[in-house]
Amino acid sequence: MTPSSLARGGLDLGGTKIQAVVTGRAAKVVGHARRDTPRRGGAEAVVRDLAITIREAAADAGLRLSELGGVGVGVPGEIDMGEGTVTQVANIEEWEKEYPLAAELSNALGGLPVSLGNDVTVAVEAERRYGAGRGLRSFLGVFWGTGVGGGLVVDGRLLRGRGSAGEIGHVCVKSGGRRCACGLRGCLEAYAGRAALEQRARREARRRKTVLFDLMRQRGRDRLTSGIWLRALDAGDAVARDLLDDAVAALGVGIGSAVTLLDVEAVIVGGGLGERLGPSWLKRIEKAARPHTFFHTRPVYRLAELGDMGGAIGASLLVPARRGA
Ligand SMILES: [Zn+2]
Repeated sequence: MTPSSLARGGLDLGGTKIQAVVTGRAAKVVGHARRDTPRRGGAEAVVRDLAITIREAAADAGLRLSELGGVGVGVPGEIDMGEGTVTQVANIEEWEKEYPLAAELSNALGGLPVSLGNDVTVAVEAERRYGAGRGLRSFLGVFWGTGVGGGLVVDGRLLRGRGSAGEIGHVCVKSGGRRCACGLRGCLEAYAGRAALEQRARREARRRKTVLFDLMRQRGRDRLTSGIWLRALDAGDAVARDLLDDAVAALGVGIGSAVTLLDVEAVIVGGGLGERLGPSWLKRIEKAARPHTFFHTRPVYRLAELGDMGGAIGASLLVPARRGA
């Protein structure tokens, strides 16, 4: 291939990490880089680090930045795609107001075109075209990580609604239940998201024995990553087990209800926890969803295929394809 005519940059901006990829034909990753999301300095610091990370990914691919057709960014928040602005952002510290991310990042990249999309939406689109959703006319994507993101493919296309369709993490699984970060009560995310699980684990740790926070300190982390939850399970930790059992029960209610409503062919589960916990936990989620699903509408359950680069690969698809791509 001639990289210059096909290569596109993709950036996945997360609450903890920035992942960058350069993709070639059929969204194949030809270069990548990753760094921590800055905790200080707000949007300006984020732009600086996004630019550094995509430059590193281009270098990893053996390309100059100017050889990319453009850069797409998946942002955890609401986007005005026409204006190229981020109107609301979740989980990025010190970033509080609307910000012209596309223009500022383009400036930092010597005028390279920049397109924005929602992080979960682009990850679902990547799975639809190149991952576990290939060949499916309909599926529900569930990204089980810090929060619980979701996206819907119906009749072969991503369903956007008026901009926020597919928010499975904020369907109610318990009326009048726990307060969610979004402001509503009883959301799936308030029972299953890693951030909510960590809050509950901290409370449980005051009265029950758990290795969760010992593992966190041993590994030099300041939060309970998906890997730490997995290690605690392997060590037979009852608190980790109980909290994840509750999370699975909540996922079952939310996903099962959505399946009954939408009659999708498949449920595709990804995200940090989904990936780390793997096939046996996917089976548990399926089992937990069954009582909430009509027998004749049961979908297949699959793990997402593109892994932790899926969001960045999806973001690269925001860059308009050139001839031959
Ligand atoms: Zn919510």
